[in-house]
Amino acid sequence: MNEKMEARIALCKCKEGGRIYGVRFEKTGDDWKYTWAFPVKEASAKRENYDKTKIVGNLIADDGYPGCPFCRTMDFVVCHCGKLSCHNGRTEKFTCNWCGLTGTLGRYDGSGFGSAGDI
Ligand SMILES: [Zn+2]
Ligand SMILES: [Zn+2]
Repeated sequence: MNEKMEARIALCKCKEGGRIYGVRFEKTGDDWKYTWAFPVKEASAKRENYDKTKIVGNLIADDGYPGCPFCRTMDFVVCHCGKLSCHNGRTEKFTCNWCGLTGTLGRYDGSGFGSAGDI
């Protein structure tokens, strides 16, 4: 009952002007539920070391997840570079907003991406 909630923040970059936001993940069993998104300044993003730890496991959207604060998409893709990018197109192709990698959309394999402890 008294289990401490484990929460992490990972960064996501929106294609709308390349703006950055943080996505809050809460651990539920072996899965991570994403519950919240909020704008982050690029300078503080660097300072907070958001790639210090990894989120490994399945991702589930919480009912109350508000989506990207800029383009409102509920979806993001996890790139091989370990970062998240908004995905608001209907195509199966995506471009990583961080490293520029393009590829086809696949299911996230749960191998992990960068995050930091909750703030
Ligand atoms: Zn967006
Ligand atoms: Zn990338």
